Amino acid sequence: MLDQNSKRILVTGGAGFLGSHLCERLLNEGHDVLCVDNFYTGSKGNIAHLLDHHRFELMRHDVCFPLYVEVDEIYNLACPASPIHYQYDPVQTTKTSVHGAINMLGLAKRVRAKIFQASTSEVYGDPEVHPQREEYWGRVNPIGLRSCYDEGKRCAETLFFDYHRQHGLRVKVGRIFNTYGPHMHPNDGRVISNFIVQALRNEPITLYGDGSQTRSFCYVNDLIEAFIRLNATADEFIGPVNLGNPDEYSIGEIAQKIIDLTDSKSTVVYKPLPSDDPTQRCPDISLARDKLDWQPTVRLEDGLQRTIAYFAERIDLG
Ligand code: NAD
Ligand code: UDP
Repeated sequence: MLDQNSKRILVTGGAGFLGSHLCERLLNEGHDVLCVDNFYTGSKGNIAHLLDHHRFELMRHDVCFPLYVEVDEIYNLACPASPIHYQYDPVQTTKTSVHGAINMLGLAKRVRAKIFQASTSEVYGDPEVHPQREEYWGRVNPIGLRSCYDEGKRCAETLFFDYHRQHGLRVKVGRIFNTYGPHMHPNDGRVISNFIVQALRNEPITLYGDGSQTRSFCYVNDLIEAFIRLNATADEFIGPVNLGNPDEYSIGEIAQKIIDLTDSKSTVVYKPLPSDDPTQRCPDISLARDKLDWQPTVRLEDGLQRTIAYFAERIDLG
């Protein structure tokens, strides 16, 4: 018999780090999940455990091209997220953000689906306002190495709001701050995966700059909970809303924490700071607390332990 609460949900970028966790969560809630991915940075390994599920379907497709499917909701996550991945083919990154958003919004308009956009704290650029609130418009370099991602995501937000105003589309925009956990790619160059892999192999920890730049790290399960809550809010609430953990650490502190937790012999080596690397980042999550009744629950040490255990099982320790 048809379950009245079960929806057909499209997750673009569903084979990626966040997408694979989201697909699993949606299946557990009884929904039909269509995972669309071109495997640019994601992998079948991330969703291998879902492939046999009778309500899970996988489609290889690039969101830069139109997609004709019938769904009730869409989570638009397709886009490389790590700086080395999104800077590898910057033109493609902008296309994925912008053409991908246009195609998925067009699909949502045709089938009258609700659509969620995985936006990012990068819309704030290298912020002068700290912590970052949603009203802050950001300080973004439009022509730098990070611009393909930052401006692509900003333009996607514009498109979401214009489709909402112009076509009455039901949209939700979540601005995601640094998130970590199992299913991160071991070589994606993001700080948590890099440091854990280096520490487990007792190789030098590559600290960019002097390590005083800050980030705030959210464990993946907490973030997925926020996605679900945001999508369940009344149609009037569309965001943008910051989704992240407000506990802020310097990258130097993160290096030391990971060395301690892995009992590693690694030493720290200093490397040049990449251009436009934000000096500080921390979400003000008052709006998420208020509208979603949400805040992160997983302590950094606990989340790191789980992530370390995941990598320790999978990487070659030499
Ligand atoms: P990820 O790289 O692991 O996942 C992205 C997925 O999108 C991959 O499976 C990739 O193959 C797929 N993809 C890329 N281009 C595509 C295209 N043209 N067509 C179809 N699929 C495509 O990254 P993630 O960390 O899971 O990030 C997911 C989303 O969340 C991204 O939109 C990212 O910008 C956003 N986000 C993530 C973080 C974070 O800390 N993880 C922070 C801010 C925003
Ligand atoms: N970083 C570092 N060493 C690494 C990888 C990253 O010191 O091996 C720093 C990077 O310069 C940045 C922070 O860690 O200041 C977070 O980097 P990440 O690529 O994870 O995400 P970002 O927030 O910069 O998009």
